[in-house]
Amino acid sequence: MQKNIAVLRGDGIGPEIMEEALRCLDAVERRFGHSFATSEALLGGAAIDAVGAPLPAETLAVCKASDAVLLGAVGGPKWEHLPGDARPEKGLLGLRQGLGVYANLRPATLFPQLAAASPLRADIAAAGIDFLVVRELIGGIYFGVHKTEEKGGQQVATDVMEYSESEIERILHVAFGAAQKRRGKVTSVDKANVLDTSRLWRAVAGRVAQQYPSVEFENMLVDNAAMQIVKNPAQFDVVVTENMFGDILTDEASMITGSIGMIPSASLGAPGAPGLFEPIHGSAPDIAGKNLANPVGTILSVGMMLRYSLGMPTEADAVEAAVLAVLESGLRTADAAGPDDVPVGCEEMGRAVAAAIGKA
Ligand code: NAD
Repeated sequence: MQKNIAVLRGDGIGPEIMEEALRCLDAVERRFGHSFATSEALLGGAAIDAVGAPLPAETLAVCKASDAVLLGAVGGPKWEHLPGDARPEKGLLGLRQGLGVYANLRPATLFPQLAAASPLRADIAAAGIDFLVVRELIGGIYFGVHKTEEKGGQQVATDVMEYSESEIERILHVAFGAAQKRRGKVTSVDKANVLDTSRLWRAVAGRVAQQYPSVEFENMLVDNAAMQIVKNPAQFDVVVTENMFGDILTDEASMITGSIGMIPSASLGAPGAPGLFEPIHGSAPDIAGKNLANPVGTILSVGMMLRYSLGMPTEADAVEAAVLAVLESGLRTADAAGPDDVPVGCEEMGRAVAAAIGKA
């Protein structure tokens, strides 16, 4: 198959982790006989330095014309003095909005080989952590009206949370579609005992669930979900929720899996539109250019790209199996290394995973 992929290396460790992700993509290309054409474009601080804007029009055009977009990370101290609208992170928000990616998929996976890195009690971690959070990304309270006004001699602030049936319905379909490709269970998280938006969410979720009879379905209140994620994470397969609840629960979920450097993400829009794939971490300026970064989150983002945007599940399985094989062999970058491990660099880790893909 021939596919076009936009590549945005970004800032900090972005270029070095992307180099290893592309090495693994090359290995998939060779192993499975595909042809991946990559187009590099500028985003974030790199774009500000080159052309004076964090999201050049040409970058958005290249991304929109591609089958998928692969991103490293953006930002860093060099651009922190700039006003909010001119900063690197604004480029990333503009890209998400420009691509219309409303569904953010973040797996919470604890690799058994890294169980000691989880802050959870050993018996809870041993039961396994392998679930996917599907978060609504471009609606809800983050995108409602925000205002602060003077009332009765004091400041009063208001943030409006609004969801339409169609916004809820489309994200629920993403969750059920993902569950069909996983272990077939969806947990919809809301606050239906208090919020109208949640009551509508729950009604729509129930309707959508009826269209997927083979998928087990349950509702859960968000406060209970926050507890269950640390008490019994093994019960979850796909968790779907609105923007703000998802923001909080995904950070909780990533924390229990150990290193931030291991976790990929996918942001998806309308069917057929290019998805955006990136590790969940930032540009890690403290370790940039030192060959210390963990490239696995970006490599697994390649896996998610193959699975969710390019329709290549076998190839995605091969990437994930290669990461597991390399961890099994004992290789670790410094962030995931235990006291007895001798850590390897970013490049060595990337080369090892690429070699393992070749043997898959
Ligand atoms: P960060 O995720 O960049 O780093 C947090 C800590 O985790 C650091 O100690 C870092 O060294 C470590 N770390 C992160 N990724 C790692 C990896 N792959 N391997 C090993 N260690 C890793 O978060 P931060 O320090 O708060 O932010 C740094 C910059 O990144 C800021 O400018 C911020 O705005 C930006 N940022 C960008 C994104 C993005 O591009 N999606 C996300 C978050 C933060």
